[in-house]
Amino acid sequence: MPKNPNIENIDELLSDFSRFYILMLLYESPDHGYSIMRQFKKRLQKEISPSLVYPFLQQLEEKSIVKHSIEQTGEKKRKIFELTNSGKDLCSCLFKRFASLISIVLEHSLSICTHCGCKVYDGSYHEVIDGKDLVFCCIYCAASYRQCKKSSKQ
Ligand SMILES: [Zn+2]
Repeated sequence: MPKNPNIENIDELLSDFSRFYILMLLYESPDHGYSIMRQFKKRLQKEISPSLVYPFLQQLEEKSIVKHSIEQTGEKKRKIFELTNSGKDLCSCLFKRFASLISIVLEHSLSICTHCGCKVYDGSYHEVIDGKDLVFCCIYCAASYRQCKKSSKQ
């Protein structure tokens, strides 16, 4: 009986980014080991060792996260690995968790426009109004803000 994969027992497997990235590649499309290594190098400009890739794929298979099929091209036989349904569920959980981690990091570099409340990731506009250094998304928001302040005073 294959074990049901769950998020706890995969954590130890994903102790490094390389393994995480292999899962991301498999999530995109089924692939064979050699092609995974090639994608890895192409996208990250980083070599990945077959001694990491193949045992990892095997571990994933033991945990029923991936399954493989054999593809015959001429003389060559290749193992194509793909995520099982529960492997896909597991991955989308992992990626969501990862995405929320990333967004926490991004939040720190966000500023909020004082006028319209939109989030400004980069290039916010600052203006000192009534002695306060305020953040705006653009000069127009700053102008409207000044206008609002003025009319509320009247
Ligand atoms: Zn604004």
